Amino acid sequence: MSTLSIYNPATGHRIVELQADDPASVAARTQAARAAQPAWAARPLAERKRCIEGFRAGVVRDLERLAQVMTRETGKPIRMSRNELNGLLPRIDFFLAQTEPAIAAETVFDEGGMREQIQHEPLGLVANISAWNYPWFVGCNVILPALLTGNAVLYKPSEYSTMTGQEIARLLHEAGVPQEVMACLVGGGEVGAALLAQPVDGVFFTGSHATGRRIAEAMGSRLVKLQLELGGKDPTYVCDDADAQTAAESLADGAMYNTGQSCCSVERIYVHEKIHDAFVEHFVRTVRGFRLGDPASEDTYIGAITRAPQLDVLESQVEDALAKGATLQAGGERRIGEGNWFDATVLTHVDHTMDIMREESFGPVIGIQKVAGDAEAVRLMNDTRYGLTAGVYTPDEERARRILAQVHAGSVYWNCCDRVSPRLPWSGVGDSGVGLTLSKYGIQTFTRTKAWHLRQA
Ligand code: NAD
Repeated sequence: MSTLSIYNPATGHRIVELQADDPASVAARTQAARAAQPAWAARPLAERKRCIEGFRAGVVRDLERLAQVMTRETGKPIRMSRNELNGLLPRIDFFLAQTEPAIAAETVFDEGGMREQIQHEPLGLVANISAWNYPWFVGCNVILPALLTGNAVLYKPSEYSTMTGQEIARLLHEAGVPQEVMACLVGGGEVGAALLAQPVDGVFFTGSHATGRRIAEAMGSRLVKLQLELGGKDPTYVCDDADAQTAAESLADGAMYNTGQSCCSVERIYVHEKIHDAFVEHFVRTVRGFRLGDPASEDTYIGAITRAPQLDVLESQVEDALAKGATLQAGGERRIGEGNWFDATVLTHVDHTMDIMREESFGPVIGIQKVAGDAEAVRLMNDTRYGLTAGVYTPDEERARRILAQVHAGSVYWNCCDRVSPRLPWSGVGDSGVGLTLSKYGIQTFTRTKAWHLRQA
């Protein structure tokens, strides 16, 4: 029997050892899910919705305990764990309200006895391989619309958020979703790989670019729907007419929230030379006010780094920047001792020869670069293989629109950052991925559109 040990990243101590899946159990659960899916799809949508409403009620009922589970296994500060769970509720409400209109059959032609209709059928059996940084969000962005549209789901949560994944499955089962229709697989990458070897009808992945590529290669000739939501190196530009303090406080939060471990964290900042120094002063003051400590404490803002190997990435990016002439304004080091800790780090005098401005950091480190104007900012923002989000701070909407129209990104922000809305599609450009979740399109993506040509005899 294989097992998976879950560790608390704040202490390094083992929380629990779970029985893990293996290729044989993954195959068995796939078969069971496939057998159970048609009956689930045949249920009226109202019944499937009732299950998801029950799931929502379970999240509300158990919220505090669920937040603590997530904080223990990921090191996310407890207030942010609660925020994630509270933020999940409007997403659930969106899916509940919008599934019916999103998948309603549509008559697009009706003349002379000939009718044409578009119908949405479930894909069938959907694999969801997921990340740990917002496990409720990224898990449910796939699981909920997939179930509502009549699919069965084989969900492989990250090995760093498996207890949370099991809670998601438990609440869905308690609410009436059959065990076989929603299976939570336990294990690391090898269990994800075993799942990909199964005859699934769609693969929905959230994680790193490196793993995303491996998954795309594994799926290669299979002709199965594949969505990849990957990393980013999200830029923001602060124009000379922006309020330096307001922008700095907003962007410090956007860079450091969730210990910088958000897919849409602000990862690099460009500031117009006219307000650069004032911006840096406010930014550093704000970051110095972020308290690093026990994720279970109410006043902690910077929690633990969830994956220990990321400490080496952060350290090497800071060393590389300093060796090439950057100035350290705050932080800069990992903390030695129990658990995975890295100080909130701010670097200035950075440029694009440095990894910190080119490679995803996924931690509480940020580079701030001075620019001479909009054209230089646009050029630097686009100097990346990623394209998840990008933002501009200026009171001038026309200027922001002009700049953001030129930037390659799935989502763009004017005077805001690190924001996701269930009403808008969530997608990446380039190495940030293919496909999308959320919005009506993120519901339709779990269906196959069937074309009906109907002639009255
Ligand atoms: P990861 O790529 O290490 O792991 C993601 C999942 O893939 C895990 O469940 C893992 O077990 C599984 N996996 C690993 N190897 C596999 C293989 N060979 N076959 C099948 N599955 C395999 O990523 P992570 O550390 O969990 O997440 C962090 C990354 O996710 C960051 O790059 C972040 O930007 C990205 N992310 C993107 C979004 C988005 O919406 N675009 C959202 C959240 C996180």
